[in-house]
Amino acid sequence: MRYFPLFLDLDDRKAVVIGGNEEALRKVRLLLKTQARINVIAAALHDELLSYLKEGRIAWAAKSFSPGLLDDAALVYSAEESLHDEVSAAARSRGIPVNTIDDAALSTFITPSIVDRDPVVVAIGTEGTSPVLGMGLRSKIEALLPQALGSLAVAASHLRDRVADTVPQGNRRRSFWQRYFFGSIRQSFLAGDAKTYSRELEAALIDDSSPSVGRVSLVGAGPGDPELLTLKAQRKLQEADVIVYDRLIGPGILELARRDAVRIPVGKKPFEPSPRQSDINAILIREAKAGRHVVRLKGGDPYVFGRGGEEQAALIAEGIAVDIVPGITAALGCAASIGLPVTQRGQNRSITLLTGASEDGLAQHDWAALAKPGQAFAIYMGVNAAGDISAQLLDAGIDHRTPVTIVENGTLANERVMMCSIGSLWETLALNGVEGPAIIYVGLKPAQTSADILPFPARDDTGPQILRAVS
Ligand code: SAH
Repeated sequence: MRYFPLFLDLDDRKAVVIGGNEEALRKVRLLLKTQARINVIAAALHDELLSYLKEGRIAWAAKSFSPGLLDDAALVYSAEESLHDEVSAAARSRGIPVNTIDDAALSTFITPSIVDRDPVVVAIGTEGTSPVLGMGLRSKIEALLPQALGSLAVAASHLRDRVADTVPQGNRRRSFWQRYFFGSIRQSFLAGDAKTYSRELEAALIDDSSPSVGRVSLVGAGPGDPELLTLKAQRKLQEADVIVYDRLIGPGILELARRDAVRIPVGKKPFEPSPRQSDINAILIREAKAGRHVVRLKGGDPYVFGRGGEEQAALIAEGIAVDIVPGITAALGCAASIGLPVTQRGQNRSITLLTGASEDGLAQHDWAALAKPGQAFAIYMGVNAAGDISAQLLDAGIDHRTPVTIVENGTLANERVMMCSIGSLWETLALNGVEGPAIIYVGLKPAQTSADILPFPARDDTGPQILRAVS
């Protein structure tokens, strides 16, 4: 290690930035996170610097550089290449750390990449060897640290005296803070659940051995591609003790989970009876009551045909804290990823999300309303009932040429996209042997025609019109 990492106190200290350009601006933005007195030395200032000047957040110390301007400074940045030599010499002779931007030889310090959850700050450096690696690490850490982590640290600092008075030093106190920063207390703090937070906090202050109350996060995993997870979903997966997941959740997503989290599959398996909702609820309740942080991982969004509401109600009835992490629902995610706008000017002003299946067979809808011209809808769980659905729509007078797009295994490596008209929906599904989860869009057209997505409208309704079927 050539460069020694440390955190410099800039409270009310003078920090000098030489230059009024983009580079200088970037350093000023960083320094503005501190309470430093920022002195800029430049012939002219970037507009954003001028606005900081107007707001009194920086001072324009001089138009041209002279060494005396560095007196008493805590650090110096030079963003003016022609001045690098002079600035570096003046700073060194005064013992002031200096960074001449893009010139390591003249610098005595480097600025790390920063993940800022003030007062919690992570600094990442590669000693200039691999900035892209540094940036990549930064975005990984960004994704892992919740936005409210800083507030958690501040809240902890307000608790210090109380903890010192009530919790004996040593193991007991360490385990209190462990639970505070990494266990159930943190969970309820980050979920913004003030009631559970204070209940758990009080319990932990009195008796750390009492089992903590677990909680359940209902997390939407998106349509399948792991990169379509939200940052919050990813963090929840990293924090989970137990993950209860549907079988539709691909292995790529589970790979992002904490390694030692227990995994419990509860989804449907072909040719096996699917677990009953009451059994799933029982698992969630059992695990949470054992004090675990349970992630109930669901495809798409937990509230869209995902029985998220029912699970939530069952947990709340047992007094278990629940939070919900939204996900990209299949109808929206699959459409966007194949270039099929779900609303488009001149085409449709609304889109209905509907299910093709219900507990007792074909779901009932207002087919006459859906059959009207200009309607657009996305059918979930519609493959088995597709023949009945198209028959209902045709009976209700839908134009048999109404365009249909089918996306099977959307956003996954084995995705297939098929296009046809409503009159040939059933044959298209049968001919292509569609078996995976699929969304059926009725009444939508692609944003533009390209080699990938072939043009509408389908010719006519003489038979299946498979415009694109990738296998
Ligand atoms: N909560 C989920 C829906 C669960 S119902 C969501 O918000 O997306 C299951 C149905 O979702 C499947 O029958 C299928 O219609 C649809 N679906 C889920 N993942 C899909 C995918 N990757 N491609 C196409 N359809 C998908």
